[in-house]
Amino acid sequence: MKKPTSLLFVLALSSTAAFAADDKPSPIGYSDTPIIPGTQWKVHDIDRPRPEAVTPGEKLGQPPADAIILFDGKNADAFLSKKLDEKGKPTNEMIPCVWKIDNGELVVEGGDSWTKESFASCQYHIEWKSEPHTKGNSQKKGNSGTFFMDLYECQMLDCDNNPTYADGMTGCIYGQTPPLVNAVKKSGEWQTYDIIFTAPKLEGDKVVEPAYVTTFVNGVCVQVHTKIMGPTKHKNVTDYSGSFPAAAPIRIQDHKNDPPVRLRNIWLRKLP
Ligand code: MG
Repeated sequence: MKKPTSLLFVLALSSTAAFAADDKPSPIGYSDTPIIPGTQWKVHDIDRPRPEAVTPGEKLGQPPADAIILFDGKNADAFLSKKLDEKGKPTNEMIPCVWKIDNGELVVEGGDSWTKESFASCQYHIEWKSEPHTKGNSQKKGNSGTFFMDLYECQMLDCDNNPTYADGMTGCIYGQTPPLVNAVKKSGEWQTYDIIFTAPKLEGDKVVEPAYVTTFVNGVCVQVHTKIMGPTKHKNVTDYSGSFPAAAPIRIQDHKNDPPVRLRNIWLRKLP
């Protein structure tokens, strides 16, 4: 009995002390603390610049005030398409985005689209929908995807009762790493992607540190700082041999679905 009583006494004393301390203003920083290793700042440094305020979207998924809006239902001006030749093959000529807007939704039809602006590391949000009566199966059903820097595909696919290879499912790094879980909703429902993409580190135009992604599908984490092994390839392995840009457009894939995949609410925030 003796021990618990004295412990209670100590707890009572410390909670009284905490209550009494609340009456005094709390320091807004310190200058008598040690330097945090690897930084120029002391622990709780009073002079360390405070992060700027950013107003979040009113609802989860809506863009915060500092987001770059790529598509908000009004126009596709942030995107470009490639002109197709007589046989329907893409040429190298960039033209205004050919994707139509219907009901405030971007209809993915007429080839891939690229952002006009180039990006590197970013926080990225997109919503997409594939209809349940979409023709085909596996990779032919409700297939789109976001290629960061025009090279690295984070897959969007109708994975509702639609078996396909694991490294081709929604949330995968295509051809490399499957998602941790299959977090898609039913076909016909809107799906969300929130992705933190970390661009590869370069020396000159050579990659010295790979790219990484952390990915959420419908709010469920499916990639945790996963290494991207190299540019996306189909039926082949990849690496970082060759030259790479410091920034590049984001590409959204048209995998020619019938009916087409639809998109809405696309935005990003550049990250350091
Ligand atoms: Mg795809």
